[in-house]
Amino acid sequence: MNENRILNFIDGAYTEGSSGRTFEDRNPASNRLVARVHEAGEADVDRAVTAARAALDGEWGTFDAARRAALLHKVADGIMARKDEFAAAERADTGKLKGPTAMIEIPRGAEQFRVFADIVKHCHAETIETTMPDGGMAINYAQRVPKGVIAAICPWNVPFVLMTWKVAPALACGNAIVVKPSEETPATAALLGEIMNEAGVPAGVYNVVQGFGPDSAGAFLTSHPGVDAITFTGETRTGEAIMRSAATGARAVSLELGGKNAAIVFADCDFEKAIMGTMTSVFFNCGQICFGTERVYVERPIYERFVAALKDKVKGLRHGDPADPNTTMAPLISLGHREKVLSYYHQAMADGATVVTGGGIPDMAADWADGAWIEPTIWTDLPEDAAVVREEIFGPCCRIAPFDDEGEIVALANNNDYGLAASVWSQDVSRANRVASKLEVGVVWINSWMIRDLRTPFGGFKKSGLGREGGVHSLEFYTETRNVCVKL
Ligand code: NAD
Repeated sequence: MNENRILNFIDGAYTEGSSGRTFEDRNPASNRLVARVHEAGEADVDRAVTAARAALDGEWGTFDAARRAALLHKVADGIMARKDEFAAAERADTGKLKGPTAMIEIPRGAEQFRVFADIVKHCHAETIETTMPDGGMAINYAQRVPKGVIAAICPWNVPFVLMTWKVAPALACGNAIVVKPSEETPATAALLGEIMNEAGVPAGVYNVVQGFGPDSAGAFLTSHPGVDAITFTGETRTGEAIMRSAATGARAVSLELGGKNAAIVFADCDFEKAIMGTMTSVFFNCGQICFGTERVYVERPIYERFVAALKDKVKGLRHGDPADPNTTMAPLISLGHREKVLSYYHQAMADGATVVTGGGIPDMAADWADGAWIEPTIWTDLPEDAAVVREEIFGPCCRIAPFDDEGEIVALANNNDYGLAASVWSQDVSRANRVASKLEVGVVWINSWMIRDLRTPFGGFKKSGLGREGGVHSLEFYTETRNVCVKL
């Protein structure tokens, strides 16, 4: 990656691409220019897909699972050897806090290469014996084969983790991949090209095309007939457009989409743990986590106390230099996204919300005054049909409401178009599990939030997605299964 320029990575080499266009990559903490990004043209996307196909037909296609696993472990080692560089690139793109990026997100990205390499290496396929009407026998054995060329369309909120979440299982399963990172966060996907080359991953196995969605690299890639399957993480509306592209050629699609997640806090919870867990689930990463909580329901006996305690904690959050360990609130991803979040802040007030805390833009020191900072915000006294209760905001905010009984809370939590995640806080384990079993979501955390074992299924109900990834579920998406039947 050249300094102050971020390039495409195609067939093992960095390239400016054919569009002749660049776009700005700005640090949202300061709004300072980080780099100019070279946008891929349609010809570059075609070259990337062709290189991926050639890799499958070449040396890469001859690697068995063990050989691929060894290579992916080298990729993980390569990332960890340069983890500070990855963390700095990620922070420049996103304005994220230093601690979580260096200590959690980049190591997690590396770990995904190890985990999926090992899962594929140790996974076995089924065999079934068949007795035929004449008493003869046949034996069936299943083979998992790579799907082919995978297109990965990625979001900006946890860029490296969510990109490697796709790249690692795709390559472990023997596919080749073309990644289109978010236009907001192009850096770490580009940098990963260097690691792939250093590790000895054959050219064309991993490719990166930079650009936007419609009429740009995203749409060129998802509509390319040489792509066999598309994995997407992002907004539900974009997912719908991508599904339409995937329909041509009846190609497989995996969609990890938006959420409007509820936290359900029963009066018998461990109060301090429920407060700390809810704090994190609402405000971590400035609320820009698909699993983040935006709806908090608290059982009436502890409602007032809970609102007051959460407000108290929020008052202790501190905006400022993201590299300063005392800073606890990062900015939003961009000034454009701040406009969207602020429009919800205004809408909440128009709908009659009581603003418990926040609701605006914080005063920042001169160095950060142009950044995309926003106040963490809590609302109460809003009806269930208010926009901020129904729609995904993707900002550091929540609406808190009281509830009275178990039946009511299940109905309230499920009364939303999305179905990604929920958390339940109660010391009555039977009740917590009973409620969890009725929630229309892909993930429920009981007395916790965001414990993510890479082997567990990950995905959403309703408008939150299609399909499951994680552990062996990723193999379902990244491989085709062939049954071979042998008459004995
Ligand atoms: P987005 O949908 O705006 O963009 C995601 C990616 O799609 C970007 O790379 C963008 O360039 C590309 N894109 C946009 N239009 C396209 C098109 N027509 N064809 C092809 N590509 C196109 O999402 P975002 O704003 O980057 O991310 C935030 C959203 O992602 C939130 O809704 C959040 O809930 C969701 N998300 C979901 C999960 C999950 O696992 N379910 C995880 C993280 C984020």
